[in-house]
Amino acid sequence: MGQKCDSCGRAITGTPVRTPTRTLCEECGATFQGLAAGLIAGHDNVGQAIATEGWYQRLRKLRAAKREQR
Ligand SMILES: [Zn+2]
Repeated sequence: MGQKCDSCGRAITGTPVRTPTRTLCEECGATFQGLAAGLIAGHDNVGQAIATEGWYQRLRKLRAAKREQR
């Protein structure tokens, strides 16, 4: 207990996302991974990477909600 996200400072309630230097909550971890993926893919438009990640997070939440209803 008591683990905090190094990015937003909130207590981590889900699975912590570990990067080489930080421990992040699931939300920040997803954003970090989205940004990293965007940068690795060669997109230097970070705004586009964030927009894409936001869409992806919503899709993941929808899919998770559908799974729970079964
Ligand atoms: Zn966070």
